[in-house]
Amino acid sequence: MASVKENTTIREYQNFVKQVYGLPNDRYFTLWDMVTNMERFMMRGLKGIRKEDTEKTKINLLIAFSWFISITNQLHVNLEEELWNRFPFLCSYCASCPCLCKESKIEHRKEVSIDNIKRPKLLEEFQNMFNQIYPTEQRTLEHAGIHLAEEAGEFSEAILSYRGGRKDKDFKGVELEMADFFSCIMGVFNSLGTNVAKELSIMFSDNCHVCKNIPCTCNFKDITDFKS
Ligand SMILES: [Zn+2]
Ligand SMILES: [Zn+2]
Repeated sequence: MASVKENTTIREYQNFVKQVYGLPNDRYFTLWDMVTNMERFMMRGLKGIRKEDTEKTKINLLIAFSWFISITNQLHVNLEEELWNRFPFLCSYCASCPCLCKESKIEHRKEVSIDNIKRPKLLEEFQNMFNQIYPTEQRTLEHAGIHLAEEAGEFSEAILSYRGGRKDKDFKGVELEMADFFSCIMGVFNSLGTNVAKELSIMFSDNCHVCKNIPCTCNFKDITDFKS
């Protein structure tokens, strides 16, 4: 049996997803299928924002987040490392905490200096870090949702570029966009007041949240028809 603990690290959650969903992902889905599934559940989550249905937003974004983690696994990305290099307790653009992008019109991305003492260990700590860099008072939930959609678009573009040219330098772009997508999905969860690690520990208390097996034995149709 595999489960997600409330005090999970990002690395541990990546491993959980690999153990439970690695096999069906490899057999059923291409990278693009997984991107489509991530976006599909993300859009359902955004619909929840429009309908003011917090529960719908929460559950669908948790599933979108898990598809996102499957993608990081397929591409063998150390997400935690990428996150810390991009957001070392500072906004990746203005290099401040809290972010000052709105007040001060910054023309160019500033160099961030990394202080490893501040590095979060747990998923929950990373979520809290994003709450400090990008406080919820600085935006509405709708704004956070639109920003997430924007980042999903940039993530797709980065994968398109990489898969188009197959140049190693473009892979860095994929890793950066993964970090940005992660920061934005945490932003929406922060606006919702959702503790992601806690919710994942409830959802994944015992293997796959639908079939309860490890590896997951949901068939292709179950997965593609799944609605929450
Ligand atoms: Zn900023
Ligand atoms: Zn399953």
